[in-house]
Amino acid sequence: MNVIEQNITDAIWDVVVVGGGMVGATVALGLGQQGMKVLLLERQAVDTAWSEERPYQVRVSALTRASEKILRNLGAWRGITSRRCHAFSAMHVWDDLSSGEIHFSAQEMGEPNLGYTVENEVIQAALWEQVEACDSIQLLLNPTIKALRLEGGKAWLDVEGVGDIQTELLVGADGALSQIRQLAYIGLDTHDYEQCAVVGCVKTELPTEDTCWQRYTKDGPFAYLSMGEHLSSIAWYLPTEKMQWALNLSDQAFALEISKASDYRLGSVVEVGERAAFPLTRRHAEHYVKSNLALVGDAAHTIHPQAGQGVNLGLLDAAALIETVLSARLAGKSWGRYSVLRKYERWRRGDNAIVQRSMEAFDWLFKQDSGLKTTFRKGFLPLANRLTPLKNWLMGQALNGRESLPALASLKRSKFTRLDSGKN
Ligand SMILES: Cc1cc2nc3c(=O)[nH]c(=O)nc-3n(C[C@H](O)[C@H](O)[C@H](O)COP(=O)(O)OP(=O)(O)OC[C@H]3O[C@@H](n4cnc5c(N)ncnc54)[C@H](O)[C@@H]3O)c2cc1C
Repeated sequence: MNVIEQNITDAIWDVVVVGGGMVGATVALGLGQQGMKVLLLERQAVDTAWSEERPYQVRVSALTRASEKILRNLGAWRGITSRRCHAFSAMHVWDDLSSGEIHFSAQEMGEPNLGYTVENEVIQAALWEQVEACDSIQLLLNPTIKALRLEGGKAWLDVEGVGDIQTELLVGADGALSQIRQLAYIGLDTHDYEQCAVVGCVKTELPTEDTCWQRYTKDGPFAYLSMGEHLSSIAWYLPTEKMQWALNLSDQAFALEISKASDYRLGSVVEVGERAAFPLTRRHAEHYVKSNLALVGDAAHTIHPQAGQGVNLGLLDAAALIETVLSARLAGKSWGRYSVLRKYERWRRGDNAIVQRSMEAFDWLFKQDSGLKTTFRKGFLPLANRLTPLKNWLMGQALNGRESLPALASLKRSKFTRLDSGKN
């Protein structure tokens, strides 16, 4: 295994990635597989061992087709399908207040499915399997980062017990509370949604029909994400003050509340697994880049998870950064230069802001009932369902079929051929 604990201060690393979550591991892999010398720092070792008996995990992501493509191109997709994942073929959204509803199906889009529900640990394990198999990537586990300097055309990271690590490009992929973002003095625009998401896996009386069901109520949305015939991952959005109440309910009472929140769309909930709750905050870094530094994933932005876009946007950041760095290297330029990294920032920041704002517009529209808003809300879903261009646009967003997709995520063949021999 390529874990190192010493002599890493002698080298100048092509890239140092802090955070080996789904997004950071993707950056490390995309660059490592192209022969770049990458050091990946992660707080916790990831267990890549797998057993069918493993209980379903609380954290689940709905991956878009674009994310699938990125993971396929990096050779990590087979590690997902060989563990556990579920393709969903439809989405059904309806509103508590009106009879409005909208239905998307893979069939009408001419697609085999609309995406996949996958446990986060499965995605991370599949990526780490590839990281461990890549000779260009070295791992440093459980680092204590003391300071960061950006000077002399390099980033310098002072790690306790190790010393100064120097690199052409430092990537902050260390999540929503990013230490790298803070050490780089990058400001943050934040907004408290005053909502929490209660998540977990449940079994329902009626089959899921491979569909993601989402109901809008005035407290917030409720969603069943299909994970199997009778199995769903739930996302139940509640005002933050109800978080402890939801966590403290007995399993029986929780099952009843979930059945009610879904308006019994899949009958009663008959079994519940472990649950967890997360307060929700929108965050957007004022800058994604500085000279020799770039932020990706939750370190750069967090978003309301109602449309399941967070990690999908993060994977697009990763793919765009990989492409920017590799293109600069190909052109013989330094990939840590501000002018190079700005291309990545321009590519991704606006796109992420649009998705953040559209989630907020949905949240605003469906949260309260008042006059004009109620009238508009009553008309929106039926209209969107009937109006083919609007429906196709909404669907395109969900599938991540944007114009400016990075090569790794494009549905065409990646323009960067892998240097290692792995197949996807
Ligand atoms: C309730 C909920 C539901 C969601 N559902 C979806 C969904 O359906 N689809 C979707 O696309 N997104 C979803 N998201 C969002 C998604 O979970 C996040 O966007 C995603 O986990 C971000 O990945 P990341 O790798 O950027 O950050 P993280 O997953 O936070 O990973 C950061 C990594 O950095 C490590 N780290 C942190 N600090 C340091 C340090 N100082 N040194 C070394 N390592 C460090 C951590 O150990 C961790 O491994 C959801 C979010 C929530 C809250």
